[in-house]
Amino acid sequence: MILQKPKTPSVRLKFMTLQLLVYVPPHPLIKHWLAVARDINTPATLFKTAMTELGRWLTYETIREWLPTMDSKVQTPLAESQATFINPQIPIAVIPILRAGLALWEGAQTVLPVASIYHLGLVRDEATLEPSCYLNKLPEKFAPDTRILILDPMLATGGSIMLAMKEITSRGGDANFIRIISVVAAPPALQKLSQAYPTVNVYTAMIDESLNNKGYIVPGLGDAGDRSFGT
Ligand code: URA
Repeated sequence: MILQKPKTPSVRLKFMTLQLLVYVPPHPLIKHWLAVARDINTPATLFKTAMTELGRWLTYETIREWLPTMDSKVQTPLAESQATFINPQIPIAVIPILRAGLALWEGAQTVLPVASIYHLGLVRDEATLEPSCYLNKLPEKFAPDTRILILDPMLATGGSIMLAMKEITSRGGDANFIRIISVVAAPPALQKLSQAYPTVNVYTAMIDESLNNKGYIVPGLGDAGDRSFGT
C-alpha cells in the first residue's frame, strides 16, 4: 500500500500495486464518530447516530469533484455573475446495502438530496459466509452516465460488495462512475474489488488489518446491522 501526498484534503491511498483508490479522509468528525461506533459501550441509539454522521461526512468527501456540475450565469441584485450548478441532466443513484447501509443513507441524504435510491438487501450465510440477495430494487437498466454511490458499512470478506457490483454492472452501471462508501474496510474486500473493478474509488473511515474466522473485521465495530437497529 502506498501512501501518496494528499491532492485533496483526503489522504490518497493506492492499494497494493493495483489501481483501486482507497481514500481515508483525515476529518476529525469522521475519526470521532468512528470511535463512538467502535466502542462496545455505545448504546444502539447513539450507534445509529454515529452511522448517520459517518454517512454525512463520508458522503461530503466522496462527492467532492465527482458530482457533475454545469456552468451558467445568474443575475444578482447588482450584476450578472458566473454560476455553477449541479447538473440535473446526469442521474445520481444511491444504493444502500441493507440493513446497515440505511443508517449511512440517513446522513448521506442531507448532503445529497437529489438522488434515486435503489435498495439492495444482502445477507450472508453464517457458516459459508456466502452472500445472497433477499431484496433487489435496482432498475432494469442504468443510464450509461449514471453516477452510482454504494453505501456498504463493512467491507470484510468482499462477498457482499462483489455481489452488489455484479448486480449493478450487469444492469449497465459503469464502474468508472461508481464510488463506494464504507465505515471500515479490510484487505480481502479491497483486494477483490481491486482485481475486478480497478477504476472504482472507495471512501472509508478506516482500513482495519484482519478478519476473524467468522468473517468479522477485527477490531472493526461488530455487527453493524444489529448495532444500528438494536437487534
Ligand atoms: N459485517 C458486519 O456487520 N461486521 C463485520 O465486521 C463484517 C461484516
